This record gives sequence, structure tokens and C-alpha cells, in this order.
Amino acid sequence: MIKTHGYATHSATTALAPFDYEHREPGPKDVFIAIEFCGICHSDIHQARNEWGNAIYPMVPGHEIVGIVKQVGSEVTKFKVGDRAAIGCLVDSCRVCASCKAGEEQYCDNNAAVWTYNAKDRNGNVTYGGYGENIVADEGFVLKVPANLDPAATAPLLCAGITTYSPLKHWKAGPGKKIGVIGLGGLGHMALKFSHAFGATTVQFTTSKSKVEDAKRLGADEVILTREPNWHAPHAGTFDFILDCVSAEHDITPYLALLKRDGTLCTVGIPSSPVAIHAFSVAIGRKSFAGSAIGGLKETQEMLDFCSEHNIVSDIEMTSFDKIEEAWERVVKGDVKYRFVLDLKTLKGK
Ligand code: NAP
Ligand code: ZN
Ligand code: ZN
Repeated sequence: MIKTHGYATHSATTALAPFDYEHREPGPKDVFIAIEFCGICHSDIHQARNEWGNAIYPMVPGHEIVGIVKQVGSEVTKFKVGDRAAIGCLVDSCRVCASCKAGEEQYCDNNAAVWTYNAKDRNGNVTYGGYGENIVADEGFVLKVPANLDPAATAPLLCAGITTYSPLKHWKAGPGKKIGVIGLGGLGHMALKFSHAFGATTVQFTTSKSKVEDAKRLGADEVILTREPNWHAPHAGTFDFILDCVSAEHDITPYLALLKRDGTLCTVGIPSSPVAIHAFSVAIGRKSFAGSAIGGLKETQEMLDFCSEHNIVSDIEMTSFDKIEEAWERVVKGDVKYRFVLDLKTLKGK
């Protein structure tokens, strides 16, 4: 086993603190990565605080990982020592079921998708994520980082990027389509960039007045402040697709009314409580309420390559391990423009 060091939470109510733990010894197909940067996703906070009821403690969060390959197993072909590499939300799956074969490992039919942290691997060992100095993973679950992209600003693409790219592609965001994005946070600002880059008419919904100008800069054709009275009236029945990127409980009924006939509202946000929908809201207009989770490995690489071609990265604010609690509090308040990224150089005791 490889001894390593990072930050962990030990219960739903305790702060992150320094933690020593172990990774498996790299096998023949494994890549050992020294982490340089890790994005802070709202899912880190949901899970550390056990808001989804699935916490395994101690938990080392982090699934927006970029680093440098330090060691490769004898059968590794994709990477060599010194390469820049990335890991997102998944580090393994069954690899043989229909979903895995289709490149949708996150939906593994055998329930064998192994999340980067807060999960157990195929040997029953708990996985530890990117708030630590290094990580070991099978090369099939490691991504190549395009050389022209800033590595720190690339880290959030590994979750916020793919989680928004995948449904926008699936529901065919592009020219002639009117797409809505709800919530301008880590996921929302990537959704906005992608929808705009795909050529769709893109409308941002936000509760924050302070984000209106940014939303336009990030690619919104129009920005709607959802705390204003009657905000939804002018847009009723006009959207092909709306992507909900909100982390907290909110009423989706008004958004369903904005969809055209056969339109879809897809949530990627995962608040802790169930979503309430009146059947009339979807029955009239044959509308769909859908969800989507991250993206498979092939599509994640496709997304990174798309970002390389179109010069897309996340808008980030760098932070450090000694300010991590403050950063989490600011994420919860919606006060980050638009993704915090931890610099692993600030991890003490390395
Ligand atoms: P985030 O950066 O905190 O962004 C969430 C945004 O939601 C905020 O910036 C805010 O935008 C809006 N918001 C917050 N509280 C709200 C409220 N009470 N009512 C209405 N709007 C509110 O979070 P994130 O990292 O983007 O993650 C968003 C959600 O997606 C989380 O639940 C996360 O767990 C989930 N997630 C899911 C997947 C997946 O695979 N499905 C992957 C990653 C994350 P405005 O200020 O613009 O209103
Ligand atoms: Zn995430
Ligand atoms: Zn599978």
C-alpha cells in the first residue's frame, strides 16, 4: 500500500481536517498520479455532510482532479511518466455490461460503477478522492489533458464540464434550439458555455442579480432574474430543453410551463429532498422530466478535446487547504465565480 496524506471529514458535522491514509500499490494497468489541482464540487459538500444519506467516513472528497503521472504499470499504454492526466467521478465499473460497453460506465447495469471517493472498489477498499496528494486508477478511467488548456481551470471540466456537456449533447442542443440553464454555479456556468458553443439560443435563469453581466459574458443571449415578479410570463411554451443545475430545493413547476410541446426539463442538480411535480405540468404538452449523471469515459475525453478546440475552461477562483471551510461556505451561499479549485501545493505535511 502507498501511504498518502490529504484532508478528510470524519462525520456530517465536523470540519475537514488533515488525514493520513493509503492507496493500493499500482497494478500493471494502473497509473499513479501526483495531484496538482482539484475542483470543489457542490457534491463534495452534499456527501461530506451526508445530505444524500450515503456517507462513508473518513471521507476524502474531490472528483475534479488534474495532476502529473509519476508511475505507470507494465501494461499501461496510454500514459507515460510526466504526462498530465485527469480523473473525474469514476474510477472503475464492471466493463462488460451493455452500459459499460456503450461507454456509459456511470450507468453500469451491474451497479459496479466505482465513484472516485465515498465508495468501495472491487476489492472492498474505500476510495479516496482529490483533496489529497495523489491517486491510483486504472488507465481506462484516466483522461488525457489537452496541452493548450490551463490545468487548474481544466480540473472542473472533469465533473461540472462533463455533467453539463453530456445532457446538452444527448438532447441535441444546437442551432435553432432554445435552451435554458437554471442556476449559475459550477455546473451552470459550464452549461452556459457549452450551449453557447453548440450554437443554441441560450437563456440563463439566476436568483443572483450580481451574476447577470457575467452570464452575458459567458454566452447567455438573455438572463432572467427569477426573483422578479412574473419572470416566467414572457417565455411560456418556448423552450426545447432546460437544464436544471440547482443544488437546493426549488419549485420546478414554472420551468415546466416554459417548455414547448415535447420539451424536456433535465435535472443534473441533486438537492437532498424529492422533486414535486404535478402530473398536469407534464401531461399537458407531453413534456418530460429527466435526469442525467456525469458522463462516460469516452464522452469525457470527447468533452476535453472539444474544450481544447474551442478554448473552453472553467472560470475559477484558486483556494488553499487552510481556507477550505470558508470556500465550502461560499459555495453553499452561491458566492463563487464560478468554481473553487484547490492548489495541492497548499497541502501541508506533503
Ligand atoms: P454550485 O456551484 O453551488 O451552484 C448551484 C447554483 O444553484 C448556485 O450558484 C445558485 O445559482 C443556485 N441556487 C443555489 N441555491 C438555490 C436556491 N435555494 N434556489 C434557487 N437556486 C439556487 O453547485 P454545483 O457544483 O454546480 O452543483 C449543482 C448541483 O449539481 C449539486 O446538487 C450537485 O450535487 C449536483 N451535481 C450533479 C451531478 C450529476 O452527475 N448529476 C454532477 C455534479 C454535481 P444562482 O445564484 O444563479 O441562482
Ligand atoms: Zn461533482
Ligand atoms: Zn457495467
